[in-house]
Amino acid sequence: MIEILPWHSDAWSRLSGSAATLHHGLILSGVSGVGKREFSIALAQRLLCSNSRDQVPCGDCQDCKLFNAGTHPDFHVITSEHEALEGRIELVSRYCDRYQDSVARGKKVNPSQVIPVDQIRTLIERFYQSSHISESRVALILPADRMNTNAANALLKLLEEPPSGAFFLLVTDQPGLLASTIRSRCVMEPLSSPTPEQAKDWLHPRLKGADPNLLLNAPPAGPIDILAAYQTGVLQQRQEHTAQISLLLGGHSDPVELAALLAKQDAVLLLTWMHRIVSDLLKWQGAGQKPAWAGDSSLDIGRYSPAKLFRLYDKLGKYRRMARDQMNLQLALEEILISFQQTFRTYG
Ligand SMILES: [Zn+2]
Repeated sequence: MIEILPWHSDAWSRLSGSAATLHHGLILSGVSGVGKREFSIALAQRLLCSNSRDQVPCGDCQDCKLFNAGTHPDFHVITSEHEALEGRIELVSRYCDRYQDSVARGKKVNPSQVIPVDQIRTLIERFYQSSHISESRVALILPADRMNTNAANALLKLLEEPPSGAFFLLVTDQPGLLASTIRSRCVMEPLSSPTPEQAKDWLHPRLKGADPNLLLNAPPAGPIDILAAYQTGVLQQRQEHTAQISLLLGGHSDPVELAALLAKQDAVLLLTWMHRIVSDLLKWQGAGQKPAWAGDSSLDIGRYSPAKLFRLYDKLGKYRRMARDQMNLQLALEEILISFQQTFRTYG
């Protein structure tokens, strides 16, 4: 079974009890990189295992064997082409191929970030018609906020009249983007972030031989994202980006040139990263919670206009949503970086 992360043990005790008492629609939310996928997959296995003990799937029954092999007929993964290609969990990639044309997907230059309605229609057919081997059937939808309007409307019908034994696990780091009709038929289960200590304890043995400063100065992200970013070299890149943005704020570089440089990155990842930086700065300013990544920075957060920070936050949110479709990243970045400069221009 996939590991339950230490900071999710409470949520696990609460949700992994009897399937009979679990709500059929769960929205598993939490910031990017806290381990929502891992938690949801473990919960799906728990719901399908026919022999679980102490709320843990046994790993030995036919259900568990099929589940781990990526062939359980009652586990359904609905996701975007982008997630299928870029997602880091191999099991997800294996299951989602039942719902996607993997050949067509592989030929695309820009795999879609959207979950289209035809996947939900196929899910409805399979949920109502096909035979199954387990008492439960589980649909994992991730990221659930990527469903287009038609897909969300189609899913709504299933949520309103769920077939017996059906469970829907909707995973998202932006629950506010889900249609209110979907939210009203599900139960919100926020998955907590680790404390800085928990994150450090978990990451240290995994970042073998890494410079400890790399971790201390890690950009804002959950530990799963930090580990993935480290393994792919993105973490080191983000440190360079942080330095470049600092130079910009100090008036030592040009927003247009920096935008051209940053525009070579993955738009969604880059904008998510920037959005979280500003979100952390807002929390720092409003609630005095200095983000762990700020280290011993002498930034005087109280000097900046909260209204401008909020506008920058909203702007990043808007571009983050647009980045799922076609977008000119360089132009967007120019506007964002100029806003960064205006926001962080010190008074007097
Ligand atoms: Zn089992």
